Amino acid sequence: MSALVTEAIVLHAFDYLETSRIIRLMTRDAGIQSVLARGARNSRKRFGNAVDLFAQGTAEIHVKPNRDLQSLASFEVTRARAGLAQDVGRFTGASMITEMTLRTSSDEPAPGLFDVVELALDRLAVAPGDETIDAALSGAWHIVATLGFAPALDVCANCHAPLDPSARVSFSHSAGGALCPKCSTDAIGARVLPPAARNALREWIDGGRAPGLDPAEGKAHQRLLREFFQEHMGTERELRAFRVWEQGTWTAA
Ligand SMILES: [Zn+2]
Repeated sequence: MSALVTEAIVLHAFDYLETSRIIRLMTRDAGIQSVLARGARNSRKRFGNAVDLFAQGTAEIHVKPNRDLQSLASFEVTRARAGLAQDVGRFTGASMITEMTLRTSSDEPAPGLFDVVELALDRLAVAPGDETIDAALSGAWHIVATLGFAPALDVCANCHAPLDPSARVSFSHSAGGALCPKCSTDAIGARVLPPAARNALREWIDGGRAPGLDPAEGKAHQRLLREFFQEHMGTERELRAFRVWEQGTWTAA
């Protein structure tokens, strides 16, 4: 057995037996790790609120090779992100981000991904009610890009011809992005992408923001992200947190 001390974020947590919790941690140094926090439910002394969802801190994990479930020795919280529990848009957005991260990650650390998830959760934790959709879309597309799946936006995804930045274009999930007029005539199931929507995607992919979405634009972007994610991340299982985020936010506002 060896001890791994690493920065970590709680992506998922559920009660186990009468006293413990099982936690899925995103670690900076060892990808996703599932750990057992013994006694976490009846002794707040040992873990405090550190094993709550979205908390970040320094984890000490006792690692046994060839085990799926490791043992959490301690977790010293540096960021609780209590703001995520104070607004439904923040919470559902953060849940979508953690679901996306868990679906696309393994115990191999993906370069840069920890920082991108950290930034997304930090932004969501303080996002005003009318900016949570933008903050979540930014985090999600930044994750997609960090994993190497960024859609083509400035050249045709099919023939690589440069695209007019001010044009309305077709966006094909299967082709992997925007299409030139010639290629879009054969595209099946493509979405129409107005220039403003293409600008927003460009910002989000680089980790920037595109505030000021109206509800219809926000909905169209949520659908586009879901379709793209399902096409390219190979997720056949239903994206439950994504569905709650997509369906819930506007009605709750
Ligand atoms: Zn083309």
